[in-house]
Amino acid sequence: MAEATNRAGLTKKDYMGPPSTLCKGCGHDSITAGIVQACYEMNINPHEIVKTSGIGCSSKSPTYFLSLSHGFNGVHGRAPSYSTGIKLANQTLKILLVSGDGDSVNIGIGQYIHTLRRNADMLYIIENNGTYGLTKGQFSATADQGSPNHYGEINPFQPIDLPQMAVELGASFVARSFSGDRKQMITLIKAGLSHKGCAVLDIFSPCVTFMNHDTSPKSYAYVKEHDIPLQELGFVPSFEEITVDYKEGEAKEVTLHDGSRLILKKLAEDYDPTDRSAALAMLEKGIREKNVMTGLIYYKKDAPTLGDTLKLPETPLRDFNERDLRPSCEDFQEFLTELK
Ligand code: SF4
Repeated sequence: MAEATNRAGLTKKDYMGPPSTLCKGCGHDSITAGIVQACYEMNINPHEIVKTSGIGCSSKSPTYFLSLSHGFNGVHGRAPSYSTGIKLANQTLKILLVSGDGDSVNIGIGQYIHTLRRNADMLYIIENNGTYGLTKGQFSATADQGSPNHYGEINPFQPIDLPQMAVELGASFVARSFSGDRKQMITLIKAGLSHKGCAVLDIFSPCVTFMNHDTSPKSYAYVKEHDIPLQELGFVPSFEEITVDYKEGEAKEVTLHDGSRLILKKLAEDYDPTDRSAALAMLEKGIREKNVMTGLIYYKKDAPTLGDTLKLPETPLRDFNERDLRPSCEDFQEFLTELK
């Protein structure tokens, strides 16, 4: 039987890559599967995506999905700057940056911070496991204080909370998920791809080889037990009629840049993800109580992106010809006068 195709005329296989060489059971492979599913269901044309990454097990994972897309794998911690450059040169492309906690918040923290404060337009996924898996299990900056590593050493330092930093510094879409919660994760990947601006998605992705022991707060067992979803999420793509059934006052709708809608159905707490102070207070409470708060944490509609701030045209740089780029004599004179 012929394989099913989506509206782009592609099968799910067309969104895959070669088989993964990561350890069996690694959370990153579940995220890879989630990205494949999300892109297939959203009918994305692979050539419209540029997947970027740095160094680490997480940064290897773009090899295993979207083999028909553009890709750029660069040096450790520097994916934000070349991702920003690619987007500024061609604003019609979608940037899908996949990094890890070591890559983004140890060596790459300067780059991470400036990407957030500029609201650079990309989906920035951090596959967060609290350890450097590729170099045999050293602590990363998101490792929990007081928790042991694979060798029994205790981490003496406070962790960096990625969503907290993202909300504080100006990302316009901040979410957290767990690689073991496929439904929530895929919904948030779709929403992040539909957002215009910096969409940060922190995904707890256990390292089964170095950080999955019983006393690790980054293990499958711990995250499963302490995961507190903020909402039940639904996603309605722009090309579909809304058919989600919910009672008045029971759910909120967030309309994303491309017209898709994210449906936020209240769970225990009445949480408003457009309230920045509430987002920070909720994250603080999660840290205090040692819980993992997942879902849409913060959302700001229509925040200017880096391209908006720089007043860049939608036309890719490569489509300008010499006549477009060379100012007229009068324009050049006017410009010189402005500088006087
Ligand atoms: Fe995944 Fe850890 Fe293996 Fe790296 S070392 S592939 S993070 S399980």
